[in-house]
Amino acid sequence: MTDKILIVGAGFAGAVHARVLAEAGYDVQVIDKRPHIAGNAYDYTDANGIRVHAYGPHLFHSKSRNVIDWVSRFGVFTPYAHKVRALLPGGAHVPLPVNLDTVNAVFGTGFETEAQVQAHLATLALPIAAPANAAEYLHANIGTVLTDLFFRPYTQKMWGLALEEMAVAVVKRIPLRFDRRDTYFADDEIQLLPRDGYTALFERIFDHPNISVSLSTGFEKPMLEGQDFCFNAMPIDEYFGFALGELPYRSLRFHHETVIGLPTRGWSVTNFTDKGRFTRETCWHVLPHHLEQNTGRHTRTREEPCDYRDNDMERYYPVKTADDRYAALYERYKALAGAETKIQFIGRCGTYQYLDMDQIINQSLLSAQRFLARVG
Ligand code: UDP
Repeated sequence: MTDKILIVGAGFAGAVHARVLAEAGYDVQVIDKRPHIAGNAYDYTDANGIRVHAYGPHLFHSKSRNVIDWVSRFGVFTPYAHKVRALLPGGAHVPLPVNLDTVNAVFGTGFETEAQVQAHLATLALPIAAPANAAEYLHANIGTVLTDLFFRPYTQKMWGLALEEMAVAVVKRIPLRFDRRDTYFADDEIQLLPRDGYTALFERIFDHPNISVSLSTGFEKPMLEGQDFCFNAMPIDEYFGFALGELPYRSLRFHHETVIGLPTRGWSVTNFTDKGRFTRETCWHVLPHHLEQNTGRHTRTREEPCDYRDNDMERYYPVKTADDRYAALYERYKALAGAETKIQFIGRCGTYQYLDMDQIINQSLLSAQRFLARVG
């Protein structure tokens, strides 16, 4: 029987594998090159008494009851319906995703019904039967004015690429609406936040006698000696010494600012429609339980996207282009990985996928169960 497992990466992919395998009796060692657990979901309380997500806002949403039930074993979750407003050039904040009120604000119309908005957008939509990229998809659904206002500059800033270069799936993450609903994620999703934060949640996931965690510890191949299997969330191209070339990532620089006062407002994240450096700004104290101590100050954080090579090789987003060129490169790395008998690559960087937290948890539960079914 396989009994010693090495897990590279203490984010969601590694943590879920670690816990499931530890509960099945395996001796699990987790390493992470960063000095903290929780991967990109890591959060902390800052000097203003505010809980800040170190790698940008992580809002938990899922359609899967199974995923929610699993994470709920490790912490209390608070219902939270995330809202985003886009800042228009004139200074108005309008709902995002685009909805009935957004359309009225942009076009100066007074629509009251979904049917009116749909009829208006139908006059603006371009006749593109099979959209081949993000721009065509948006043009076919909402026309050029809304596309150029809400998606074109943001996408250019975010990815350093034009909308025409990006895969449809990237912008399809955002629903398009014709009524007044103004929450960011789809209605059929369960939307929650861990009451005590993500770091506390991960502490509980790792709190098992069969799990040991070593931080500030990068992966090196000799570590595989004495291990029976390794689940590895490191960048797959790095593992193979970039033999086939580099898989690119977008990264973010975070600009934190202390602001006096604790304004109340109905949304936490503002997306910028301008052509400046920043994509969005988060006022953390608006999120439930993020005002941990009332100091009379709060923290707001702006995000400035950049290439990961310009940010200490901090990989946040795999790049999904319309021509799938990086997906094709990943497939070649995956073929190399297929020859490895004692390693499976997992997570955003191991599988080069733009995945949400719940998708990573779901995949990891299935993957760990498949492993158990295979080796017992
Ligand atoms: N997007 C945009 N304008 C916005 C919000 C999103 O153009 O105001 C596009 C952009 O290309 C972005 C993608 O939609 O990368 C996905 O947005 P999401 O908010 O899901 O990104 P994440 O939260 O993962 O950074």
